[in-house]
Amino acid sequence: MTLGREKINYLNTPTPLDRMNRLSDELGINLYLKRDDVTNFGTGGNKLRKLEYLVKDAMDQGATFLLTVGGAQTNHGRLTAAIAAKYGLKAAIVAVDPYPGEISANLLLDGIMGCDVYLVNAENHPGKTESEIMAEECARITLELEKRGEKVYYIPVGGSNELGTLGYYDCAVELSKQTEALGLKDVRVVTTVGSMGTYLGLVLGTVNENLPLHITGIAISPKEPSHKAAVKEYFDRTKKYFDLSFDLTEDDFDVVADYTYGAYNNPVKEVREALYYMGRMEGIILDPCYTGKTFTGLLDMVKKGIIKKGENVVMIHTGGIPGNYTKHHRLEMEKELAPYIHIV
Ligand SMILES: *Cc1c(COP(=O)(O)O)cnc(C)c1O
Repeated sequence: MTLGREKINYLNTPTPLDRMNRLSDELGINLYLKRDDVTNFGTGGNKLRKLEYLVKDAMDQGATFLLTVGGAQTNHGRLTAAIAAKYGLKAAIVAVDPYPGEISANLLLDGIMGCDVYLVNAENHPGKTESEIMAEECARITLELEKRGEKVYYIPVGGSNELGTLGYYDCAVELSKQTEALGLKDVRVVTTVGSMGTYLGLVLGTVNENLPLHITGIAISPKEPSHKAAVKEYFDRTKKYFDLSFDLTEDDFDVVADYTYGAYNNPVKEVREALYYMGRMEGIILDPCYTGKTFTGLLDMVKKGIIKKGENVVMIHTGGIPGNYTKHHRLEMEKELAPYIHIV
């Protein structure tokens, strides 16, 4: 129980905290990965921690159906599908995205787990914003499901609402026990900032439990007016929801916006190079949308001296590996990796 809320405990925690020996030597820092990519359902990833709370809430309310939203390749949707299957619930994903031309990566895994995916083509809704289209389609689909007798529980993008922050609140506590057992002092935690629930959860756990961690977030897509303003707005809502006793200002949030490469989930050469570097140095696979950009940022911050020599750094591996198998990333990688194939 955290902040008065209960969860279902289905996760294989604590997840491993593995030292990256070769990277640490080469970069001159003490680098660990927190392996939330090897969590135990639906091929793993960070959303499973948030869903421990969200699905508990859904089941307490008697829900029979989890409805969530995201892009066509949402990792969060895939993990919602996994937990729905595990607890005998139904699930569906609504994405305002065109059909990508093939059923691969997360879309394939969604189908394996029996989850419906609604791909809404924005061209059929002229003059409307993406969020208007999303709201309309979710309302329409919810009504249809309710007519069939389902009780629908709605989970917002990335599971990032107030309750969802508790997943990474708990992770901060778990990680801090691990770093303490290793005798690490002044630990910088580097994590991806997408829908922000992971980052804000880590910050809330750190502040409220007075943990010796510093959380650096690396944003993977642009945001207006700024990421700090968006995190602050999310914090204010969450503070009210849980009646938290402390305040935070925009400047308390260490969110770096220099590594978005201008768009969400776009193929980027530097990011692929960072991903290959991790693969070749440590045998660990990152993803091109989230952790690849985060690791690219981490490497650049080491190069620039923002992350200092000898620093203790924990990067959270939030998962997302299926993203490597999506068409637009895979085609770029196939060109670069072709020399590794020897037809003899
Ligand atoms: C969703 C996601 C993130 C970002 O987490 P948020 O809580 O949305 O900020 C990072 N990595 C992967 C692989 C994800 O699927």
